[in-house]
Amino acid sequence: MLAAGPSVARLGGGKLRLGRTAGPGIPGFVLTAISRRALGHCLRTWSRLYRILFLVAMGACSRESTEPVTRSFASMGTQASVTVAAEYRDRLPELTEAVHEVLRRLEDQLSTYRSDSEISRLAAAAGRFPISVSADTRRILELARRYGELSRGAFDVTVAPLVQLWGFGRRARHSVPDPEVIEDRLRLVNFRSIELQGGSAFLPAGMSLDLGGIGKGFAVDKAVEVLRRSGVRAAMVDLGGNIRVLGQAEPGTSWTIGIRNPFESERVLGVIKLPDGMAVATSGNYERFVEIGGRRYSHIIDPRTGYPVEGMAGVTVVSPDATGSDALSTALFVLGVESGFEVLKDVPGTEALFIRDRDPVELWLTPGMATLFTAVPEYEPAIRVLSAEARK
Ligand code: ADP
Ligand code: MG
Repeated sequence: MLAAGPSVARLGGGKLRLGRTAGPGIPGFVLTAISRRALGHCLRTWSRLYRILFLVAMGACSRESTEPVTRSFASMGTQASVTVAAEYRDRLPELTEAVHEVLRRLEDQLSTYRSDSEISRLAAAAGRFPISVSADTRRILELARRYGELSRGAFDVTVAPLVQLWGFGRRARHSVPDPEVIEDRLRLVNFRSIELQGGSAFLPAGMSLDLGGIGKGFAVDKAVEVLRRSGVRAAMVDLGGNIRVLGQAEPGTSWTIGIRNPFESERVLGVIKLPDGMAVATSGNYERFVEIGGRRYSHIIDPRTGYPVEGMAGVTVVSPDATGSDALSTALFVLGVESGFEVLKDVPGTEALFIRDRDPVELWLTPGMATLFTAVPEYEPAIRVLSAEARK
């Protein structure tokens, strides 16, 4: 069994394909894709398994009145779900609709797939005039700049021209881009150039934004806010593997999130217990990548070099909010274990699990993560706790 129980959510997740419908009926949690053939196999297996898991979960829910109940739907190009503790069972349809509505609104504002979204209009007006933006768009841009600073530029939402160049946008690639072209695009990447003034935002000429590394987390925080305002004290929101929880799954039982082996999606490495209010997200190289000349390139770009990140397989981040876990999992994927750990000392309450892209699997945990994460017996020997000394 892949899920450790009904309150186990699946980590991973699709890209923030804002403005598109979800993929081929899979929940966005395929974590391993060694090759296209393997990916195809995984997708088929997972879509079957998901259906089975779903039915098992539904069966369990109808039998056990103390267990949380879940509703899933497609949003922001991935699978979303709202889970509430049993006491809110009757309100689940209404709560799910309220969350869905918030996600729809955000998608309208933030999607790069919609030419009329605020983010698209900002790019279209770059170098010419400012665009008036909603409070949410302003907020997400402020947060994006903040995570840009915190990560010393590893996280940069102005990386869009490079994301497009490497074939992660509308156009696929068949060869590695020319170094001069990469250099040219790099000149358009700098989050500090995003200007925010009052209710409007402005981008210098040629620049554009990609909120794929922060938008889903931001949306989860908004969704959790909606649930809180509705009086819900125990719930979990999952948007393509960006997860945040409130309260406990059942009295005395924490919400538990399964972490998969990035190299073998059918294997669970362990589970993370998420305390009240906390969020978790994973960035990985296994699910979304392009293949150019038989080589795989990660969809996360190092904004300092202009090249896709190499050497990391996955980073899972636990943080006090979902915007933080989303942005920081992407940032730490770029930074790697040592620099990532170093950056985390400026981010209180945030913990990470790093997996490098090498065999055999080693699980590098921050000391705080070591208290939240429990490996399955098979992976216990793979645990390496980063020393607090090294953090200085
Ligand atoms: P996913 O949303 O695919 O699960 P992430 O949250 O790690 O994974 O976000 C990756 C996405 O963020 C990429 O698909 C791209 O849109 C965008 N991105 C790529 N590199 C960076 C970067 N260095 N900083 C910020 N965003 C990035
Ligand atoms: Mg992210």
